[in-house]
Amino acid sequence: MKANTHPDYQQTTIKCACGAVWETGSTKKDIKVEICSKCHPFFTGRQKLVDTGGRVDRFKKRFGIE
Ligand SMILES: [Zn+2]
Repeated sequence: MKANTHPDYQQTTIKCACGAVWETGSTKKDIKVEICSKCHPFFTGRQKLVDTGGRVDRFKKRFGIE
């Protein structure tokens, strides 16, 4: 198994407006977001599970995960 299947895939630091910082693999680098898994209503359970699929999908695309 090759560890790097994507030419532009690299280690990236993501910083959220809530102060959370973590690393992940992405085609982008130095990603900044206004919301993350720690403060996103979907993960905190403060919001009804409506349209969460699309929201999470956009969330992932923003990170370049999918
Ligand atoms: Zn956050």
